[in-house]
Amino acid sequence: MATSNTLATAQPTPDEALQRLVDGNRAFVADQPSQSDISRERRLALAEGQQPFATLVGCSDSRVGPEQLFGAGLGELFIVRTAGNNVDAAGMGSVEYSVSVLKVPLIVVLGHEKCGAVAAAADVVTKDVRFPGSIGRMIEPIIPAVLAAQRNVGEEKLVDVAVEENVRRMVERLQTFSEPMLIEPQERGELKVVGAVYELATGRVRWL
Ligand SMILES: [Zn+2]
Repeated sequence: MATSNTLATAQPTPDEALQRLVDGNRAFVADQPSQSDISRERRLALAEGQQPFATLVGCSDSRVGPEQLFGAGLGELFIVRTAGNNVDAAGMGSVEYSVSVLKVPLIVVLGHEKCGAVAAAADVVTKDVRFPGSIGRMIEPIIPAVLAAQRNVGEEKLVDVAVEENVRRMVERLQTFSEPMLIEPQERGELKVVGAVYELATGRVRWL
């Protein structure tokens, strides 16, 4: 059956968008075949324009491909990925574009277990390790999350707790310390920002 042109339909509510991701991840965890639409019809419809239902701020890690772990198809997720799931000016501009122009109702900040960027930031804090090139600057925004985690847990749990803290801080930034174009839709109930952590072995997305 040909896929209807979603451009003609309204965006889902933030909760409906979140439920789609919850359901998609549940199917992924259960090893069910993906329902993601990557058909020719879908491609042709999307050539006219996009209307993704969620914006995802995630890590570049090859094990955490958002479309795969949420069973999403073409044109469904607007994605910003950097090692350590923080956003710079380009990333923030991308998020703002998705909300102000594409009217995306949901932003998900997705961290994951054993994140190398967070582990690197932990090494900076605990072992005074230095990283060459732009890597050092890239992990700098993660250091406050590591310091906060360090106040609560020992070294063996530091990276896990810092991953979660890093997500919470990014969520808080998007909820509170961002441009009116992100704040106002949240006040009107048209946009939600949520955080989550992906578990590598189980495939489960744990919502914070
Ligand atoms: Zn990572």
